[in-house]
Amino acid sequence: MSGTMSPRPNLGPKPHLGYTQSVIDRVAERRLDTAWLGACVNDTRTRSYVIGTEMIVLKRRDGLHDPTFTPEEARKLAPATETVFLGLHDGAPRFGTAISAADAEALKARDDLVVTDLRSIAIQGLVGAEHLPPLAEAKAMLHWHARHRFCSNCGSKTDITEAGWKRACPACKVEHFPRTDPVVIMLTVHGDRGLLGRSGRFAATMWSCLAGFVEPGEAIEDAVRRETLEEAGVTCGRVKYLYSQPWPFPMSMMIGCHAEALNDNLMMDKNELVDLRWFTKDECATMLMRQHPDGLTCPPPVAIAHHIIRSWVESDGALF
Ligand SMILES: [Zn+2]
Repeated sequence: MSGTMSPRPNLGPKPHLGYTQSVIDRVAERRLDTAWLGACVNDTRTRSYVIGTEMIVLKRRDGLHDPTFTPEEARKLAPATETVFLGLHDGAPRFGTAISAADAEALKARDDLVVTDLRSIAIQGLVGAEHLPPLAEAKAMLHWHARHRFCSNCGSKTDITEAGWKRACPACKVEHFPRTDPVVIMLTVHGDRGLLGRSGRFAATMWSCLAGFVEPGEAIEDAVRRETLEEAGVTCGRVKYLYSQPWPFPMSMMIGCHAEALNDNLMMDKNELVDLRWFTKDECATMLMRQHPDGLTCPPPVAIAHHIIRSWVESDGALF
């Protein structure tokens, strides 16, 4: 049996966690400066990320594609359905521009463009890594706007204000702010083994951390314990926060944790998972490195699950 006697696996340099460490300065004070925002159209450094629901529009290039368009270029692609101000990149204004899904689909016919989804862009590294955080910001914001055109208090049509960072209801005066949905994602550990599951949506060989939405009135630690008990029948004790990651599918905030299992007998929730089992560190190391003898894998480095699993695999002593 492999396990506790083998040396700690060497997984090489730590990869970057996708969508994090944004280069964008959000300059919230500029959101109220309508004169300055209007003048950005004439600023030669201004660029927009153009998004049609799930599809991102890129300029085709040899090597990395370019996801940014001048205001003039963006206007020529398709009519904008919404625009939000993302912030400044080295002093240069950055916007997110929504176009319709049908217009994005039509742009696929153009040879000078690549139109594809953000997951593919991130996993295949189709654009420079510095573009992933503003793409996540733009995609999550534009999704929120698309679903909040009407006041949730009185049903009236709302107006976009503050450069996209608020919607205001002219009828009842309630203000609506962009939201993000917190999700806990955890590796539950029992002794020297970690718990991974498979969702029916996964590729056939892929195993990952359990995850679930934080519910209203719930602490992160309690959400970790509830989700692990619901999905796996495992009661958890201590919970330790590790990392977070914006996850714009469509507008989540992933909160990565390790959790201490108090029992190891499993009772799988068949509505959420198709498989569930305990893995050793050595087995997970081969999965992270894509060297597992049966071809089993963990999520790629762009996903927080990769980092949560790796952090445990590389740990020497007690996690908690
Ligand atoms: Zn209202």
